[in-house]
Amino acid sequence: MDAVSVLQKEFCKVNSKHKELQEGLSNLDDLVAAVENNQDLDCNWYLNQVKTELTNISVSHKDWHGSISRFGKVIDKQLTENVSFFTNRDLISGRNSQLLHQLICEHFLRQGNLELVEKFVQDSGHKLEECKKRPFVDLNQIVGSLRKRDLLPALKWCENNRPALKKRGSSLEFMLHRLNFISLIKERNTAGALQYAQILGQFVETHKKQLQRLMGSLLYVSTGIENSVYRDLIDPQHWSDICDLFTKEACSLMGLSKESPLSITVDAGCKALPALNSIRQVMEAKQLWGLKDELPCEVDLGPSCQFHSLFACPILRAQCTKSNPPMRLECGHVISNDALKRLAISNKVKCPYCPQETSPSEAKQIYF
Ligand SMILES: [Zn+2]
Repeated sequence: MDAVSVLQKEFCKVNSKHKELQEGLSNLDDLVAAVENNQDLDCNWYLNQVKTELTNISVSHKDWHGSISRFGKVIDKQLTENVSFFTNRDLISGRNSQLLHQLICEHFLRQGNLELVEKFVQDSGHKLEECKKRPFVDLNQIVGSLRKRDLLPALKWCENNRPALKKRGSSLEFMLHRLNFISLIKERNTAGALQYAQILGQFVETHKKQLQRLMGSLLYVSTGIENSVYRDLIDPQHWSDICDLFTKEACSLMGLSKESPLSITVDAGCKALPALNSIRQVMEAKQLWGLKDELPCEVDLGPSCQFHSLFACPILRAQCTKSNPPMRLECGHVISNDALKRLAISNKVKCPYCPQETSPSEAKQIYF
């Protein structure tokens, strides 16, 4: 069994012990509530119940504690690989450390963990402006309401940000109203659904097909939508989708990516490390490791880490832009236009990779 599977198995044990403890505590709460609500309770019976529950809780707590300390030992035993070869301290020191602190704050703000952010700011000395915190607080409150199937705060947010959402061609407001409509259908509330259809009227131009389906579903209110061709409309998945969609739109309006950059980076690092470690062992044997400050090979990180196509110039180590586009040399190697200009000497350019000599005018712009 590989290290991750062993850790997963051990973590499940910790989790199940924690659940047992929580169950015991909630049983005790029930007993307290019972005595508060019932004055005629048999005292002996009650005390015996409490004693049994307390014994159970004490055993569960001991088990849980044991499983946690065992988990620590398993981590130490399983994760013995030395990954210090891949650390680059320059990346997280000096000015970059501020950036890293900002990423950490943003990550926990996205999760709504304000207490942790406060503590982090205190310990790291990072300056976090109040105006940067506020939108995340609102975002988390609204997502919390959506999880409880309360659409009102999200609809209010849409109303306040309507021009910006419209500019983005966002479907969020429609999707929220759609969920309200579907809830009425599910409750077999025909009158309510018909009335709500008037609100949906505003989306007729932008969401005609979806609206037609919603109106079609009205036919099945009495017989039950779950037995009709429209049963996909009541799929509970729509509720988790709406949380994702809301987070995506709210982050976009704040100029942020939907996923936390810190999670993406850690995720990508975890995926790349095993491959890099294998390559390192081969390259070290040939004394090639560490000669260049770059990854020695391309590592496939899977579709979740694939973003829009962009090109970073291997010479200038900067992302290409419209004013500095990528240029393909005649040999097939691609560098940025600025790099091409810098490398050109008296109308000749020597490819930094092959190194074939060509004329800069023969280089062609690449479009992604
Ligand atoms: Zn070349």
